[in-house]
Amino acid sequence: RPVIVWLRRDLRLADNPALHAAARTGAPVIPLYVFDEAEAFAPGAAAKWRLHYSLDALSAALRRAGARLTLRRGRGPAIVRALAAETEAAAVFWNRRYAPAHVEADKTLKTDLVRAGLEVRTFNAGLLREPWEIKTKNGGPFRVYTPFWKALRAAGPARAEPLPAPKALRPPADPPHSDDLDDWRLLPRDPDWAARFADIWRPGEAGAQAALARFLDGPAGRYAAERDRPDRDATSRLSHHLAFGEIGPLQVWRAIEARAAAGDVKAASAEKFLSELAWREFSCHLLFHNPALSEAPLRKEFVGFPWRDDPAGFKAWRRGRTGYPIVDAGMRELWRTGWMHNRVRMIAASFLVKDLLIDWRRGAAWFWDTLIDADPANNSASWQWVAGCGADAAPYFRIFNPVAQGEKFDPQGDYVRRFVPELAKMPPEHIHAPWRAPPDVLDKAGVVLGKSYPEPILDHAAARKRALAAYERTRRDA
Ligand code: FAD
Repeated sequence: RPVIVWLRRDLRLADNPALHAAARTGAPVIPLYVFDEAEAFAPGAAAKWRLHYSLDALSAALRRAGARLTLRRGRGPAIVRALAAETEAAAVFWNRRYAPAHVEADKTLKTDLVRAGLEVRTFNAGLLREPWEIKTKNGGPFRVYTPFWKALRAAGPARAEPLPAPKALRPPADPPHSDDLDDWRLLPRDPDWAARFADIWRPGEAGAQAALARFLDGPAGRYAAERDRPDRDATSRLSHHLAFGEIGPLQVWRAIEARAAAGDVKAASAEKFLSELAWREFSCHLLFHNPALSEAPLRKEFVGFPWRDDPAGFKAWRRGRTGYPIVDAGMRELWRTGWMHNRVRMIAASFLVKDLLIDWRRGAAWFWDTLIDADPANNSASWQWVAGCGADAAPYFRIFNPVAQGEKFDPQGDYVRRFVPELAKMPPEHIHAPWRAPPDVLDKAGVVLGKSYPEPILDHAAARKRALAAYERTRRDA
């Protein structure tokens, strides 16, 4: 009797404990993926594009190992139960998820399956340490990153070494029906706004391994010094692979450690990189222990915050037409590539929440729909961090100045030039605040403010005062 492996955000063969364990049973293996549009954190538009190619790659890799990926559409638990009955499966294995809605659904399914006489085994594929493993001295969850990181660093990953990919998977004699991936219509059409994504990203496990190797051979060495520079290629760009589980954090952790031990990557860069991977773990820890993380501010004084409804401002932000070049470059990078540099995510998110006073949940929803690395924990925790309403957050009164941030982290303006071609000819000293440039400089650069590039939609100094006043009022009233 077969073993079903229900794959979710663990779309890889190597270091996949559920798949590995299924292969070791010697029984026929049925790898299953369910496209469940009604579940919590169902993929947004960009993630659907990503999912299509991830499944395509996974299906090919499984086929090479002898197995066939079964694709079904509908409610996940119901499909698993039905497939188990249909194939007379003896067991169902999966790797655990951590968003509270997913945890609940998995728990109920496990109870049902066990009651029906099936064996259920669950594993950790997605985290170095699961949210209940890292505890404060009092045994509770962490709310602050630094002590969390110290505890995680001291504990180290739960497993010593990544597992190899199963060499051969035995298929069932009579493989179950599988949907045709194309019928799910995950790819955009009319217009195909993702047309250029395929030139930039290589979804799938092999793509993830290639991205890791590229990082280790180049950017890793300058990570500590340059990770905050969007104009440089200094980060791994592994986030979308990690979000879909095409690579696991243990694989990444051990790879960077090995390079550091061999002296190929400076210890400071390796350590900084590991500490960023730990932000991913911390976000997951927060979401697991705070089920409302994506919906409500963790700091209660923000519950009644006077967010503004500003349709024109929100639209200008989404389209990258705020008149603040670093914000616009970021929002256009997001739209064009499905990804945005972390520093610019912080600047653009801060502009929405603090300069425009628009609810962080609306920003998070836009990111959810447009990011190829959209992740329930990272997206929610990061937005709460920027908004100042999270557990361990930037204080609300620390408001990013988009011009100063641009000048500091994109000093030559190269990043802006890449994504805002209207400003391609602006000199570095004026590119982050074109409205302050003398007329002859604008003329020479062919920039007509209000025509070829927008005037700033607000005055940052005034917006800052407005945000601080709103915050003070909320704190007083809370
Ligand atoms: P690297 O710098 O190479 O880091 C390696 C890995 O560590 C990343 O792939 C990521 O998994 C993790 N990581 C790095 N920085 C962070 C961080 N600040 N928080 C959490 N994990 C981190 N990341 C997502 O994966 N999905 C999201 O939906 C997401 N939404 C975000 C929203 C906002 C408003 C902000 C400010 C940040 C968000 N991030 C999100 C975090 C971060 O911006 C990305 O993980 C990072 O830019 C990915 O690029 P990279 O892979 O080159 O990162």
